[in-house]
Amino acid sequence: MRSGRNPEKVCNRVYMVGGPDISDGRDCCVYLVDGGGDLALIDTGCGPGYKAILANIIRLGFEPEHIRDILLTHCHIDHVGAAELFRSECGARLAAHELDCPPLESGDRLITAAFLYDLRLEPMFIDRKLEGSTSRIAVGDLVLEVLLTPGHTPGSVSAYTDIDGTRVLFGQDIHGPFHPDFGSDINAWRLSMDKLLELEADILCEGHFGVYSPTDAVGAFIHAHLERLRR
Ligand SMILES: [Zn+2]
Ligand SMILES: [Zn+2]
Repeated sequence: MRSGRNPEKVCNRVYMVGGPDISDGRDCCVYLVDGGGDLALIDTGCGPGYKAILANIIRLGFEPEHIRDILLTHCHIDHVGAAELFRSECGARLAAHELDCPPLESGDRLITAAFLYDLRLEPMFIDRKLEGSTSRIAVGDLVLEVLLTPGHTPGSVSAYTDIDGTRVLFGQDIHGPFHPDFGSDINAWRLSMDKLLELEADILCEGHFGVYSPTDAVGAFIHAHLERLRR
């Protein structure tokens, strides 16, 4: 398991501060959005990588206390395991879609997949439960537009933000996998992927495979998974 590698700049105002090659081999990719003062994180990794992620945020010249919001894209532990630490130690607020909140609030080891990682997930408090199909989270002078994109889990969300004309999409587990224990719904997922393709994002920040750009590469990534799982 490698850890401790430097953070990576994705584009102006977006950084990858955690991930399997950066913070902990079990972590999803963790992205920092710089709203020009206020900061936001997309997901948090599984927990043990917390200190490495924090160090990377500081290494980039940011103060962890400026993390105002953390968007949890869905309830799996590789995405949410460090959330409560960021909340209690940095004062960040947690946001997740209400459909994925119950397992987070109860620390359900099966639905959060904690058992797969042999980790405990303490019940956490979600400050902002997102409802419906769209929400907005202000990050300083940027806005994260959050879309409900069910499929992998019922409350999976994706988010995008436009930075100087560049559309950055945070897609995380849009590749799946799909399992009854997760409440996966492959038909809902296909519709969700159509929604993401329509965005014509310039950059896709993905949860386990890294960063894709330009728009053609983003589309090719999503189409490849649609093709892999076609009816
Ligand atoms: Zn997942
Ligand atoms: Zn994942």
